[in-house]
Amino acid sequence: MVYENDIVPELDEKLRSDFEKNKESNRQIAELDSKLSNGGTYRDAEAYAYEMGEALTKTFKDNLSSETLPDGKMYYNIFMRTVDPMIRETYKDATAAAAKAQANVNEAAGLHVKVKEAVLNDDRLHTMVNILTNNDAQYDDVSWVVEDKITNIIQSAVDDTMKANADFHAKMGMSPKIVREAESKCCEWCKDLAGTYEYPLDSDEEMVYHRHANCRCVVEYYPGDGRVQNAHDKTWREEEAEMRRQERILNDMQTQNFEQVKTKGEAITEKRYQDILIRRVDGLKNEVYISEKANASLRNIKNMDKDMTSAIKVYKGDINHRPRLVVVAPEELRSGVFAKYDEINNTIYAIPQVGDRKAIIPIQKEAEGACANNPKATMYHETWHWMQAEDYRKNIGSTTEVAHSNYIEIVAERSFERLDAKPGMVYNIMQISGYAKEKGEFRRFDEVEAEYQTSKALKR
Ligand SMILES: [Zn+2]
Ligand SMILES: [Zn+2]
Repeated sequence: MVYENDIVPELDEKLRSDFEKNKESNRQIAELDSKLSNGGTYRDAEAYAYEMGEALTKTFKDNLSSETLPDGKMYYNIFMRTVDPMIRETYKDATAAAAKAQANVNEAAGLHVKVKEAVLNDDRLHTMVNILTNNDAQYDDVSWVVEDKITNIIQSAVDDTMKANADFHAKMGMSPKIVREAESKCCEWCKDLAGTYEYPLDSDEEMVYHRHANCRCVVEYYPGDGRVQNAHDKTWREEEAEMRRQERILNDMQTQNFEQVKTKGEAITEKRYQDILIRRVDGLKNEVYISEKANASLRNIKNMDKDMTSAIKVYKGDINHRPRLVVVAPEELRSGVFAKYDEINNTIYAIPQVGDRKAIIPIQKEAEGACANNPKATMYHETWHWMQAEDYRKNIGSTTEVAHSNYIEIVAERSFERLDAKPGMVYNIMQISGYAKEKGEFRRFDEVEAEYQTSKALKR
């Protein structure tokens, strides 16, 4: 369809130039920006986001009305090409300001970890879009929603970023502290929320990150002490709990009488967190090994071998670089996970159940993975991690000489770029599975992408 009179290009230009003017004429925006570059904290980022939100609100108020819009209405396609991208860009801008505040706070606490940035939660936009683009509505009758919501959405960039970092620090074993001061003119609701909040938060304490329209309460963030001693213990505690959980699942499943696979080859020592004794399994498409401690039938191993081969084919991977497959006992994967791609050994490690068409289903469901009902999902997921390593080796460098955490950071970033074909896309993709959502919130877009590719490959 061709719009005979497409008002969008002209309207978009006007909106953008007005927004620039509104920002320039607000001295606070520039001042706060420079403050944030020189040690400013969340207080400054919050004020910055507020001013940016107000500048954007004013821009829309000045330019959008029943008189200027075709039929007096905000059509969905006009919204998506003008208002939507400007909100997203401004949200990103406010996120960057919050990230500066977080970096300053980290610096002051002597904490050297990467700053997390928030991703816009599309739910925040939906109500507004629905009201504005309601078929029967004249724009002037619904434009109040712009005044009500825009600044609030932009402010949420700062609150969301604080939450992402606080959650992350808490996961590392620190005890972050949030201090919320009610603005003097604010309401009872905000007065109730004022106070000091220490992690771990109860579910009702998560409200500390919330704001109603026009809320100017100041929320400050303190990373907390004891990080060095606790970080290690905490990680271990979590890993142990995870391992016990996996063990429980495995025990709950019917114990099967495996016909242990016969291997003739010599035992090789596999260097991982611990040394694993493995032997080659002959007669398969791929280079496959089994640990002495793993109890797997040949059928299970053949299934994994087959799934890996078909995943490589579907993903159009280079079979000359194919990963090895090492079948291990659950206790040999330290963190209790059931499968894992290792970029240093170019190997997929998996427990025997991954090749068991029945047993793998409850495990995948428990992990809330994509296509959990499809027994091939785990191998497809891990094979996509191999594709990411292939991309890294081709475009960045060797995967054996980089620290694992740096490797993951780069891979996650590259995954994000591939997924972010259009604004908001990544958030939608994160809804594929509970696992993708959880990982995406910690910016582990490598995991989100593995989930996405798995479901794309298996749903066809
Ligand atoms: Zn308030
Ligand atoms: Zn993964």
